[in-house]
Amino acid sequence: MVRENEIRRSEIAVALPATPDAGLYFIGRIRTPWQSRLVCPRQGRADGPICRIEVFEPWAAALDGIGAYGRLEVLYWLHLSRRDLVRQSPANDGASRGTFSLRTPVRPNPIGTSIATLVDVEGATVLVRGLDCLDETPLLDLKPDRTLFVPVAPPQPGDFQVGDA
Ligand code: SAM
Repeated sequence: MVRENEIRRSEIAVALPATPDAGLYFIGRIRTPWQSRLVCPRQGRADGPICRIEVFEPWAAALDGIGAYGRLEVLYWLHLSRRDLVRQSPANDGASRGTFSLRTPVRPNPIGTSIATLVDVEGATVLVRGLDCLDETPLLDLKPDRTLFVPVAPPQPGDFQVGDA
């Protein structure tokens, strides 16, 4: 059941700490077809619409090499979410669960992650499929999908080696 900002029966809100422990840079914005949480998908799909990830300066140079990966991990800031619920009732049926057992956007640090399929890179804009965020959602980070990424530096002690159980 899609949430706006209400607190439902059996949900628990807490007082947020007075100050945050770290700062973030919004490195871009994500353009999607969805203007409302009522129509936004709950999880992205590989056959979803093409979305545009617009990377701001001075970060565009950091896109170099990204076109080599067919899938990207996209991290974004679910900026319209409340952040104070520790128990939530996704079905709004009186039953609740802990926030960290859910992929809800309502969390103390409202970070969303998706594995997206890379469609193209046009200058400072990355085109992908597989997102589930509202239009104008702030971008936090882009990384190669970990299953595709081979470390550039030689193996280090403690790295998992091929053939390890
Ligand atoms: N795939 C991400 C994850 O698992 O971390 C996000 C999943 S979350 C369930 C996706 C939902 O968050 C959408 O259906 C929408 O209701 C909500 N949402 C999307 N963009 C948002 C934003 N910018 N602020 C607040 N809520 C947002």
